[in-house]
Formats: sequence, structure tokens, C-alpha cells
Amino acid sequence: MTGFSFEKLGQDGKARTGVIHTPRGDIRTPAFMPVGTAATVKAMMPESVAATGADILLGNTYHLMLRPTAERIDALGGLHRFMNWDKPILTDSGGFQVMSLAGLRKLTEEGVTFKSHIDGSKHALTPERSMEIQRLLGSDIVMCFDECPALPADKARIADSMRLSMRWAARSRDAFGDRPGHALFGIQQGGLEEDLRAESAQALTEIGFEGYAVGGLAVGEGQEAMFGCLDFAPDQLPADKPRYLMGVGKPDDIVGAVARGIDMMDCVLPSRSGRTGQVFTRHGVLNIKNARHQDDPRPLDEACGCPACRGYSRAYLHHVFRSQEIISSMLLTWHNLQYYQDIMSGMRAAIAAGGFEAWQATFHAARAQGDIDPL
Ligand SMILES: [Zn+2]
Repeated sequence: MTGFSFEKLGQDGKARTGVIHTPRGDIRTPAFMPVGTAATVKAMMPESVAATGADILLGNTYHLMLRPTAERIDALGGLHRFMNWDKPILTDSGGFQVMSLAGLRKLTEEGVTFKSHIDGSKHALTPERSMEIQRLLGSDIVMCFDECPALPADKARIADSMRLSMRWAARSRDAFGDRPGHALFGIQQGGLEEDLRAESAQALTEIGFEGYAVGGLAVGEGQEAMFGCLDFAPDQLPADKPRYLMGVGKPDDIVGAVARGIDMMDCVLPSRSGRTGQVFTRHGVLNIKNARHQDDPRPLDEACGCPACRGYSRAYLHHVFRSQEIISSMLLTWHNLQYYQDIMSGMRAAIAAGGFEAWQATFHAARAQGDIDPL
């Protein structure tokens, strides 16, 4: 079994391209990770997710620990076997979703106790329990247990929270143990404050991780503030390890993050939007439920190679969406995930060729055009 390593293949400005090698396969970076919350990327077969070009999925510890439980998944051979996905899986720590979904939370130095949003049952998450759950799931990339304060918050609150997360990061490292081929990523916190981000990066680097995430962004601060933070936060993290921006984002967020030195991202947006009729194309966002599509024989995007664009008209996709047919979610999700992966492969090639600036100009110009004119 080979180990876990990051090989940087090219850099253009701050943007990097490379490969994360894992025993379950390579992850080409910059990488976008579709979200498989409950051991499925909704409306997609795992082989279809792979066909879009995804090298890795994200699974949610919070959801899986409550249902069907990590112990059950472990008894059934682990998350890869359970959901029939043999490529790498990254799991979050559960911390963020406890804060956003669970009821009656109580936060102490030890960890968090909370009530399940499903049945009200009582649970506890600590750094040690989060590491145990992610080990039972069989996750390839494990995230440290951390606390993510909602923004805006005052600086003292953000500093206290960040320092708690750094103590939890050390406990996570200890509890993770020695697991060749598996990686533990530290999570930088500190809100939008450059000095707190630097303190957090320093604390994490001293502990030592196989990769580093920029946490605590995409929580309502807006793109301008997020990019402002990304102008310095990734630079504070080790250059020879993967850098992961959690929970981002819209297509232009992703491109802007890669331009600032980010290697990995995840977001529910392309899959969730596929179920609500929101479609991402090179020309921006369109809504398939709009009546302008009902007689339109053209594909969503003539340049896209996905099944929705190769085989179906806007008129058909409009019809099945309005009729609430299951194939609507299947086709629109596939298209959106394909579009995201096409952005990633385009960026990887452009960075490797030293043409990322020109690629970005083309990306923004195509979006500025807007959707094709109605017939
Ligand atoms: Zn398509």
C-alpha cells in the first residue's frame, strides 16, 4: 500500500495544479468534491459521479453518525463498500453541521452535546469521537474536529473559538493515530482577521498535518470579504501540502479561490440546484422552469458532453421539471456536476500551460454574455 502524498505539477501566479496520491487513487488538483451527504450524491449513481470526472467525494459525519450510524457502516464493510464508491472519500468532522442543523447544542472544552434533528436523540461529539467515527467510515481524508463561529462575530469571540479549535486539532491528531495511507487535515480558523489566521496557521503547522483547510468561510460573509481573506489565508499555510477551502461555492467563487492558491473545494450547490431547476452553464445561471424554455429544442449548453445536453432539449427538461419527474433531478444534477468538473479540468490544463489568466478572462467573458437568446 502506497502512502498519501501531494505532488505539485505546476504553478501560475498563486494557482497550483498537482496530484494527491492515495491508496484508493489519484486526486487531480484543483479538485471539486461533490457532496454525498447521506452516502449518496442525490439523484446520481456513483459511476455517473465518476463519469463527470470527480476523483473524490465528500461524506458528512454528522448525517452518517445519526443514520445509519458509523458502527453499522463499519460492520457492512465501510463507507466505500456501503455506497459502492471505490475512489477516495473525504469526511468532514461533524462540527460544522452540529452547529447548523442540530438542536439544543451545548459546547464545552470537551466537545459538543446535541440533539439529533431527525429524532431528538442525544449525542456527543468530541475530537476523539469524531476521529473514531471517521475511522469507522473508512474515510481517506479525515478532518479535524473544530468549531466554526457564525460571521459576523466580534474579534474576541472569534479568537476564543479559534484557540479552542487549535486545542481540538491537537487532540484530533493524537486520537487519529498512525494510519498509513490515510490523511488528517487541520482546519485554519480566525474569521476574516489576518493576525488570527496567522496564529491558527502557526498552531496547525506546529502540530503537523497531511493537508490544511481554510475553514470558517462561506458562512454568509459575501464573496468580496471571502476573497479578501483568501488573499492572505492560503499563503499562511504550508506550500507543499494540499489546501482545501470548505463549503465553496459558486463557479466564480471556485475560480477566484484557485487563483488565490486553493487546491480542493466542496459544495452542495451543483447537486442541490439540479433538484430545484437551477442550471449552471458557461453563460451563467438559467432556470429550467422558466416558460421561455418550453418550446426550445436546443440543449442546455451545446458545448457540454453530459447526457442531459447530448440527448435532451431544453423543452424536454422544462417538461420533466414541471411534471416533477425523477429524471429531471437526475439529468440536471448530472449536467451541473459535469459543468463543475469541466471548470476544474479547464483550470488544471490552463495552470499547467501557464495560461490561467487568459483562461479566467474567457471564463468571465462567457458568463457576462448571459444565457443564449430565446428563440
Ligand atoms: Zn450538460
